[in-house]
Amino acid sequence: KEQVIENKQNYLCPPSWNHFYKEPPVIVKGEMQYLYDDTGKKYLDFFSGVSVMNCGHCNPEIIEPAIAQMRTLQHTSIIYLTEQMGELARRLSGLLPGDICRSFFCCTGSEANETALLMARLYTGKKEFIAIKNGLHGRTHLTMSTTAIPMWRSDPYLSDAVHFAENTFIYGEDIETAAKKSLESIRRIIEMRGKDNIAALIMEPIQGNGGIITPPPHYFKALKALLEANDILLIIDEVQTGFARTGKLFAISHYEVVPDILTVAKALGNGMPISAACTNEKIAMAFNKPSASTLGGNPVCSTTALAVLDYIEKYDLCQRAETLGKQLMQGLKLLQEKYPILADVRGMGLMVGVEVRHLNGMAAPELVDDILEALKECGIILGKNGLERNVLAFQPPLVITPENVKDLLDALDSILAGIAI
Ligand code: PMP
Repeated sequence: KEQVIENKQNYLCPPSWNHFYKEPPVIVKGEMQYLYDDTGKKYLDFFSGVSVMNCGHCNPEIIEPAIAQMRTLQHTSIIYLTEQMGELARRLSGLLPGDICRSFFCCTGSEANETALLMARLYTGKKEFIAIKNGLHGRTHLTMSTTAIPMWRSDPYLSDAVHFAENTFIYGEDIETAAKKSLESIRRIIEMRGKDNIAALIMEPIQGNGGIITPPPHYFKALKALLEANDILLIIDEVQTGFARTGKLFAISHYEVVPDILTVAKALGNGMPISAACTNEKIAMAFNKPSASTLGGNPVCSTTALAVLDYIEKYDLCQRAETLGKQLMQGLKLLQEKYPILADVRGMGLMVGVEVRHLNGMAAPELVDDILEALKECGIILGKNGLERNVLAFQPPLVITPENVKDLLDALDSILAGIAI
């Protein structure tokens, strides 16, 4: 462990990287919903490496096909024909909402979103974008520029082609009012900048890092109508919400809206680097220029992604996320009645956030840290997010069991009994 810490401090960049824990465990092994540290301690993983391991850690049904592929053919680039990437695109085309039927593969969520923004500029011939407060879309130039969360905007020279609209949720305000204000502020930006300047609006269907923020049911239909009336594309970032996390394969399907471009990453590869910007025929044809990501969609990653799609279907992970999400949400709401520092419980499927606040309404990031530390001691790993880092984030692998949910709720109950005033 000393060597791991020394290597981090002396060789990794940035050395100041902030972990969730005072003493972060050194994780050496993963097994479905469990992780193990270097002392042999077992943890129930309730964060999935930020919503990545939907099918579980080192799941044999995912890794065996990938290992076999690695033994046969790892990589060629798209200069040659291979089977796997095309097959993955064909499978996705049958699963993506509405008329979305073509995929451009790359390796990370940032690249997928950067590609989506490029597609929008090429199709519309317009330059500017609208993004939403509290949103996060990546760490390349334009995706960092569309990211609103201050701590993830480290570049001092971000693009001025991005305009931020109000969020769909503000603590203490009725969600319907917040959503109405959000649409109103988008309308104002369109008026101010002119519809002929704005190529697209980019948005997560449920904001992840921003604090698990779920717009009300009718929001996206109203948004799409507003954008369509102004010839502005809708880019939906499903990097964190995709692949059964919210109880449907894609979160935007809860809202019965078909975006113009939809991006995926994280859980598509269940730990392998693969992402995609997916779009309809018309927009794809405007992207008909030489464009390639050297490693994007290589045979090993594509094979893994195909195994992920098979696994989600075979074990009906959508249904599982919905059922277990209900159990989790109900349990958390009962805890909320007992412990008023749990100021808000929200989310969909197994993407659930709990806003922690002092009784005077002030955000309580230090209590979130205490809860995370205490859960770690009990052998449970949880996430945190939100602008004020005061939201507990529950995003476990979708292979968890009802007993796992109960164990988490029991642990949380006894921890809160100790700290809640
Ligand atoms: N979009 C969303 C919604 C994300 O949550 C993230 C990463 N947390 C990204 C984009 C960026 O993905 P990556 O780190 O793979 O580049």
